[in-house]
Amino acid sequence: EDITLQDAFSKTVSRFPENPALIFQGRVITYRKLDEMVALCAGALAALGVKPGDRVALVLPNLIQTVVASFATFRLGAVVVPNNPLYTDRELEHQLSDSGAEVVFCFDVLVPRLIKLRDRTAVKKIISCHIRDYLPFPLNLLFPWVKRGMHLKTPKAKDVYDFMDLMKSGTPWTKRYPSAMEDTAVIIYTGGTTGVSKGVDLSHTNLSANCQQMRAWCPDFFDGKEVILGCLPFFHLYGLTVVMNLAVFYGWCNVLIPKPEAKAILDAVDKYGVTLIPGVPTLFNAMINFPDIKKYSLKSIKGCFSAAAPLAVETIRGFRNLTGILISEAYGMTETGPCTHAIPLGGKEKPGCIGLPLPSTEAKLVDIDDYSREITAFNEPGELCVKGPQVMKGYLNNPKETKAVLKEGWLLTGDIAVMDEEGYFTIVDRKKDMIISGGFNIYPREIDEVLYTHPKILEACAVGVSDSYSGERVKAFVVLKPGETATDKEIIEFCRQKMTRYKVPKEIEFVSDLPKSAVGKILRKELRRQDSAHAI
Ligand code: ATP
Ligand code: MG
Repeated sequence: EDITLQDAFSKTVSRFPENPALIFQGRVITYRKLDEMVALCAGALAALGVKPGDRVALVLPNLIQTVVASFATFRLGAVVVPNNPLYTDRELEHQLSDSGAEVVFCFDVLVPRLIKLRDRTAVKKIISCHIRDYLPFPLNLLFPWVKRGMHLKTPKAKDVYDFMDLMKSGTPWTKRYPSAMEDTAVIIYTGGTTGVSKGVDLSHTNLSANCQQMRAWCPDFFDGKEVILGCLPFFHLYGLTVVMNLAVFYGWCNVLIPKPEAKAILDAVDKYGVTLIPGVPTLFNAMINFPDIKKYSLKSIKGCFSAAAPLAVETIRGFRNLTGILISEAYGMTETGPCTHAIPLGGKEKPGCIGLPLPSTEAKLVDIDDYSREITAFNEPGELCVKGPQVMKGYLNNPKETKAVLKEGWLLTGDIAVMDEEGYFTIVDRKKDMIISGGFNIYPREIDEVLYTHPKILEACAVGVSDSYSGERVKAFVVLKPGETATDKEIIEFCRQKMTRYKVPKEIEFVSDLPKSAVGKILRKELRRQDSAHAI
């Protein structure tokens, strides 16, 4: 169905006005109330001069204001630009200037930093959002640098507004801008795992379609009846689509958790009868390993999705023992709305596999070096290409990159995958991470997985370093568990017993930690870069 995000929101408000839309630290907001807040916020934004097509940046964790600000922006036909509130000034500056946002909603503690960033970006107006408008919240849990008693009043400065004051002063805006389906709804940045993060231009079609596609993979779920766990950040497309938008489209209750921690999550599941958990592997792991897990009732859970990173078989097993529920693995990327593949809830058990293409999504594998050669053999690796209504319009301000990844409607994902006889896909590795040594293609993820099985190893990351003889050779960076010691010989010997010779690391470097992205993905490119810098 072709429906814009603002129209989908209003449709749900009229279908389920008294349903709880959001729960934040015990406070319940119904869809009727949320609609009133969105109207006030849209009125305030219009008064600040926001027009259709303008970009409105959010630098917020999952708060009530985050949802209100997003749908107020959509209502005006403007574009939401989500940002990670934990980002450094350098990262924020890049995204704010690249997107050209003039109005920013931010968390109150960030206002002084955004005032400084105004000089270096297009930002003019700052709207400060307080968490204490609702309930006391231990801020230092989210921002370690926030000290007790730190003054969180909105500073008096030109063009800095208080969210609540704006809402009180505004006139409700009930009109909905008639955006075209191909109009941009959201500009959101990729994870920056393999390079500088790129702005992705997503239309109403992209985001609306992806919600409906994911809904189709949730059989036995009912409109207006479900409770979804809102712990994935809405500044990532996975949380934005599979939590915030999915809930709004189908009148579900979204339990907001600004800081995803096992205790807060288990409390919420038990207290509010959460039925759907969209999560990431580390989250399910944290739940399983929580010491007091037995004290919580998890009976309400009907389904769980895990995406963004590989899900370990052990985690699937542990969670099923605990709840009887099989976690469904999903796959996607910022460029694709984000979901393209998933195991339908209640579907087949296929550990390690990302499932089937979603409805109206096509997927194929092509030769890693030759896009025109399609790979049709089962279980033979190729670059995954996807096509569907959720595929982005393109990268923002970057036609060159867009051209490199979008070919006749097919998006080249940069991920290497295989397909089995039943049409299920499994991710092998990222293409950019592949190591070519003496003519062999080596997937570092496979080496990492072997290293992780070593009892002394906490974290591991294999990379290719240049080698005059074989082009590249495998080197592994290893973090040992606290108190452990090991020699490189011992690790190399361990690998020899488990992999073919050409895959075995030639060199081991012991380090105290590994560089990670804001989402916690290990940055292989950073290790490669450091290593070549060494060599020079
Ligand atoms: P950048 O493109 O800026 O380097 P990124 O690709 O990490 O960053 P995202 O769009 O957030 O940014 O992540 C998409 C990537 O995450 C996919 O291309 C894939 O490599 C990985 N990914 C997503 N889901 C899964 C999954 N289920 N299993 C393995 N990898 C996954
Ligand atoms: Mg990417």
